[in-house]
Amino acid sequence: MSDIKELTKLIKSLEDQLVVCMRCGMCQSVCPLFEQTGREADVARGKLALLDGLMQEMFEDPEGVYARLNKCLLCGSCAANCPSGVSVLEIFMKARVILTGFMGLSPAKKLILRGMLARPDLFDTLAEWGARFQNIFTRPVNNVVGTSCARVVSPLIKDRHFKNLAEKPFHKIQPSLDTQPGKSGIRAGFYVGCLLDKIFPHIAQAVVDVLNYHQVGIYMPEKQACCGIPAVSSGDMQTFNKLLFHNLECFSPDKFDYLVTACATCTSTIKEVWPMMADREHKNLIKKISDKTMDINDFLVSVIKVNPENQAPEKNRIPITYHDPCHLKKSLKVAAQPRALIKANSRYELKEMLDSDWCCGMGGSFNLQYYDISSKIGNRKRDNIVSTGCKTVATGCPACMLQISDMLSKNRDQIAVRHPIEIYLESLKL
Ligand code: SF4
Ligand code: SF4
Repeated sequence: MSDIKELTKLIKSLEDQLVVCMRCGMCQSVCPLFEQTGREADVARGKLALLDGLMQEMFEDPEGVYARLNKCLLCGSCAANCPSGVSVLEIFMKARVILTGFMGLSPAKKLILRGMLARPDLFDTLAEWGARFQNIFTRPVNNVVGTSCARVVSPLIKDRHFKNLAEKPFHKIQPSLDTQPGKSGIRAGFYVGCLLDKIFPHIAQAVVDVLNYHQVGIYMPEKQACCGIPAVSSGDMQTFNKLLFHNLECFSPDKFDYLVTACATCTSTIKEVWPMMADREHKNLIKKISDKTMDINDFLVSVIKVNPENQAPEKNRIPITYHDPCHLKKSLKVAAQPRALIKANSRYELKEMLDSDWCCGMGGSFNLQYYDISSKIGNRKRDNIVSTGCKTVATGCPACMLQISDMLSKNRDQIAVRHPIEIYLESLKL
């Protein structure tokens, strides 16, 4: 349990933010969870009303409050459409910290977050062992999507179709980089992130190849840690701070002009959650880093000035569609840039899907806890993807890639799931 003084301070800061909500209910129409359940308790307004009496509720029914608060994708659709500008995600995250501080972490979360995630070396070793033996427990199911399923159905995996761990994580292919800029005169720090490192190393390699092509110097230190989002969204500030301080040591802001990532969730965590949860001692340093942090699509279009207008389209182009990750479009307002990278490849024809910015239903641990609802939201996305007639769907977040792959694969769709940086890299090799 946390220090009661700290909790009281946090509760006070929440109370000040809660009064901003005028209970207008406009968040209902954009909440992917409310669309599925129709329950007021699931939408931002219902949760904020609950938090209004947090102090009292916390003593009467802490588990109930925690469960209702946890049933949320943290997609930010409500915040992006709130006329009063309520900082919904900040309120939800801080409330989770308060409740976890009051109740303590569950043994399973303690094991995963403090026993594994907080120890980057151990996490890497476990993932490597997992990659070595995963074929005993899994079998391939869809070659185009590149997914597998469990040989024996387990309560944790259920009937999911998933991407296997990469045979070699990116940090084993390329442990570190420290190169000087060429013609661009720019040096970029590269924050790889867990999913790119352990599941999608070819996307991390594509980032390096594209930066090299544009003669951008790369600073990629060894032993990067998770950005901390799984910890802070579970209310575990101890693990979040440990990971944050580890990364602050890795990424001294005087080593690069920009810090790029190819993961929408990592980018929004570094840009928004790190400053939001920072203690006074680290505030200035975190601000310097988060100010320099950019999504790779945004960096290439806004800083390097990649311009798709020069491309003459080829005949018989491959139809492709794009899904807007919540953490890119709603949090960071990055939507045109990944589309520009796709359009830079003359072999593809971009076909917009209906509601391209509707959440895919992943929501991190939400998918683990509420897989049925997560799948319903995911299948809505899948239907919109399939309706375009595309052969490829691109998206700028590896977590969305996992969810979309699961939905397409289970429906036996033959649609590849790729990152815009891969599509752009292909155009450079044409
Ligand atoms: S969170 Fe915003 S949109 Fe939702 S009820 Fe409150 S003021 Fe309205
Ligand atoms: S963050 Fe997303 S799922 Fe959670 S209340 Fe807001 S719109 Fe609904």
